[in-house]
Amino acid sequence: MAAGGAGVLYVVATPIGNLADLSQRAAQVLAEVDLIAAEDTRHTRQLLTHYGIHTRLWSSHEHNETERVPRLIERLEAGEDLALVSDAGTPLISDPGYPLVQAARARGLRVVPVPGANAAICALSAAGLPSDRFLFLGFPPRGAARRREWMASAASEPGTLILYEAGNRAALTLRELGEVLGPGRRAVVARELTKRFETFLDGRLADLAERISADPEQQMGELVVLVEGAGERGGESGQLAEGERVLKILLSELPLKQAAALAARITGGGKNRLYRAALGWRQGGPGER
Ligand code: SAM
Repeated sequence: MAAGGAGVLYVVATPIGNLADLSQRAAQVLAEVDLIAAEDTRHTRQLLTHYGIHTRLWSSHEHNETERVPRLIERLEAGEDLALVSDAGTPLISDPGYPLVQAARARGLRVVPVPGANAAICALSAAGLPSDRFLFLGFPPRGAARRREWMASAASEPGTLILYEAGNRAALTLRELGEVLGPGRRAVVARELTKRFETFLDGRLADLAERISADPEQQMGELVVLVEGAGERGGESGQLAEGERVLKILLSELPLKQAAALAARITGGGKNRLYRAALGWRQGGPGER
C-alpha cells in the first residue's frame, strides 16, 4: 500500500464475540496490509478465514513484544504497511500493543486507528448506568491486599467504574468490591457480550455476588463489571440517603431497632447512624428529617 517512504501501522479493532462485528474498513485494511501482527495467530487466522483474507500473520504478544517491536519497526521503515490486532476488541486496551505503538510514534511513523468493538464501551452503552463520566480500571490485580488497595483508590470516583474480569472470578470480585465500596452500590454485570448467551445482571454489589456464586452458568465466559460511581447515590452520603429511604418503609412495620438493623443490612449503611436518624425523626415528628 505504501508507495515510497515509510509504511503505516494500522491499529485494528476486531470483534469481541460476534464475527459479524468486524467493520468493512477493518476487513479491507487486514486484506491489504503486508503483514498482521497478532496476539495469537491461530485465533486471528479463524477471523481471517471467515472473511477470506490471506494476509501473513506474525505473533506479537506480551512475552515476545520486546524482541518483535524492532523487527516490526524495521518493516514499517522499509515501506511495508502493518496491522496490529489482538484476540478480541481494541488492541492496547488490556491487551498487547503499547510498545509497538509507542515505538512507531517515537520514530515519527504514521499510526492509524481502525475503530470497532471494545467490551468496556459496549457494556457501558447498554448497562443503564451513568455514561457521561466513567473510569476504566482494566483487570483487578492479583493478590488480595493489592486488589483491595486498587479498589479503594477508585472509591471516591464520581463516574461509573468499569472493570474486566473472568466469569469464574466474578463472585469474588463483586464481594470484595462490596466490602470496599459498600455493598449497597448499584452494579451491572455484562457477560458474553455479542455472543449467544449475552446477559446483563443488575443489582446491589452484595446481592449480585450472591446471585452469581449461586448460579454456575453466570460464572462462565467473559464479563465486564460496571459499578455506580460515588455520585449522588453511590457515595457515603448517597448510601445514607438510600438507607434512610429503606428505613422509612421498614419503620411502618417494624420496631425501630429491628428496622435500623435491617435497613443497614439491605443498603450497606451504618446501623448506628440509621438508628440515630430514626430517633431524630421521632423527636421531630413522623416522616420529618
Ligand atoms: N481489548 C479488549 C477490548 O477492547 O475490550 C479486551 C481484552 S481483555 C484481555 C479481555 C477481557 O475483556 C475479558 O476478560 C472480559 O473482561 C472483557 N471481554 C472481552 N470480550 C467480552 C465479551 N464478549 N463480553 C464481556 N466481556 C468481554
